[in-house]
Amino acid sequence: MKNIMVVGAGQMGSGIAQVCAQSGFHVVLHDIDLPRVEQGFRKIVENVRRLRKRENITESEENRILNNIKITTDLYTGYDSELVIEAAIEQMGTKKQIFQQLDEMMPKTTILATNTSSLPITEIASVTNRPEKVIGMHFMNPVPVMKLVEIIRGLATSDETYSFVKKVTEQIGKVPVEVNDYPGFISNRILMPMINEAIYALQEGVATKEAIDEIMKLGMNHPMGPLQLADFIGLDTCLYIMEILHEGLGDDKYRPCPLLRKYVSAGWLGKKSGKGFYEYEEKRTR
Ligand code: NAD
Repeated sequence: MKNIMVVGAGQMGSGIAQVCAQSGFHVVLHDIDLPRVEQGFRKIVENVRRLRKRENITESEENRILNNIKITTDLYTGYDSELVIEAAIEQMGTKKQIFQQLDEMMPKTTILATNTSSLPITEIASVTNRPEKVIGMHFMNPVPVMKLVEIIRGLATSDETYSFVKKVTEQIGKVPVEVNDYPGFISNRILMPMINEAIYALQEGVATKEAIDEIMKLGMNHPMGPLQLADFIGLDTCLYIMEILHEGLGDDKYRPCPLLRKYVSAGWLGKKSGKGFYEYEEKRTR
């Protein structure tokens, strides 16, 4: 197993491509247009350069990692990949379209994984003719730093697919933890309602954003407050996940906070757009 294709070069896809390339895999990184895929690659260059400056890697390792990554806007470039990890936006329609396309074009043996935060793996797999080879690989953000990968088995996912993906996860230095296919899996079923509740508290004027974050950091020993974390995850992604929990579990305790909807419709998506609950210098060119 040498070749991996990553579909979607945003904050997660670029991180996944980086850790795979660091572990010696040849990676094809794909996005829908050149500016997006180049932006994803630039992020990897920055991260890897930082590692070299901190003397965690040598100059030749830096070159080897970057040479392991090929960028493309054509899925066929990754035709010889044994594993595809999809990390496009959190929308069922988009993911189904990508999986249908991958199923038609990739060899029958290729395993198709999705980095979805909350969408049902079984439903994504249903649009393919290989549901036994479809699986969830839910990386955490930022990917180069966080150890956990939630591995989600769909209804039809085979033991062989699970073992293969577990092994690859370990090869890239991460820790796989198995969960079943349920809305939000474990991580986001617990994390997102907390973030949503923090946004309700802000909306109701219970405290300022700084106070809410400080209380959760100092009081609960969280490394980052929930509003800052929401900005890092992306407020659009947080909203998609709350909608999936609400719809999938059918309980109003998961209703997305109106303030979250308002921010997303204003284009305030958090760190990636330069503004969310806080303001950031880093801003995407798109
Ligand atoms: P992002 O917005 O940073 O990146 C998404 C990328 O997908 C964009 O570059 C976009 O151009 C690309 N894209 C859209 N449609 C595409 C298509 N048809 N083909 C190829 N690429 C396409 O989002 P992100 O934060 O990187 O999230 C990506 C996925 O990872 C989502 O499913 C999300 O739920 C999941 N995820 C996110 C986090 C997080 O903290 N942000 C954590 C774990 C998992």
